[in-house]
Amino acid sequence: MRNDRQPRSLVVGKSSVWEVVKKRAAKIVKYCGSRKFKLETMWEHLEPGSSPVDWCEGNYLISPVIAEFVNTFSNVLFFLLPPVLMHLFREYGRFVNPAIHVIWILLMVVGMSSAYFHATLSLIGQLLDELAILWVFMAAFSMFFPRRFFPYWFQNDRKLFSMAAVVLAIVATGLAVLHPAANAFALMTLGLPAFFLLIHELKRCRCSRVYRLGIRCAAIWLLAVTCWINDRLFCDAWSAINFPYLHAFWHVFIFIASYTACVLFAYFSVKDEQPHQTPVLKYWPRDNFELGIPYVTIRCYYKSDSNQI
Ligand SMILES: [Zn+2]
Repeated sequence: MRNDRQPRSLVVGKSSVWEVVKKRAAKIVKYCGSRKFKLETMWEHLEPGSSPVDWCEGNYLISPVIAEFVNTFSNVLFFLLPPVLMHLFREYGRFVNPAIHVIWILLMVVGMSSAYFHATLSLIGQLLDELAILWVFMAAFSMFFPRRFFPYWFQNDRKLFSMAAVVLAIVATGLAVLHPAANAFALMTLGLPAFFLLIHELKRCRCSRVYRLGIRCAAIWLLAVTCWINDRLFCDAWSAINFPYLHAFWHVFIFIASYTACVLFAYFSVKDEQPHQTPVLKYWPRDNFELGIPYVTIRCYYKSDSNQI
């Protein structure tokens, strides 16, 4: 008599238990292999020099542990100024928009990421640096982009506009990770609409003090971009005269241009959107010294409450 009543545990479809075990084991080995591969790749991306980007300054010339010494330490303003700005903008944060401090914090994150990138030239450092710039840009864009330029479908709703900016930033983050070589140029082009928006707002401005600061901001931005392009494209010429440090000047100028632009747009947004408040542009440490640190304070403030007139 044929024994066709084998235990179910020993037969799965047409395969024997052994074959099933072999298949499962092969899958696990494949999975582990791919995990190992991913971890190794991750580790490679953290390694010094793994970024495809290398700036004009020579590597490990001053310190054996810091790749681009001058480029690393030229980020110092990103650490020093935001705490001062947080203090100067405390009134603005209290009576207009506390989110202004998010911008100052993100600028510090940009400084940290940039210093880490230039110290290691790792791919992870490069991505952190670029993504921090992308996010500070999107934060400022969603906070200050004038409502009158909102596309129709946002219906003047800044919350909806900010959510769209966050979604855009997430998509751009994904693209940045997929194509890291194109990031630097993509970020540079982001500055153009901001530059033209600033010029447009300055043309409407009737306060000569604000206008002067706007012109200085635009000029410093142009100077920063000139430094960046020269360092990127004409490194041989600058190295020939022993001055491969233009990227360090870019750090200094772009920080000044960026925070000044935020100060100006913070001023414009109160003018446009808070008719019951009066923004005042001031300078620290002395108000009559226009090369000091600009900030915005509120003159006739009271909370926007329907019970108050
Ligand atoms: Zn840099």
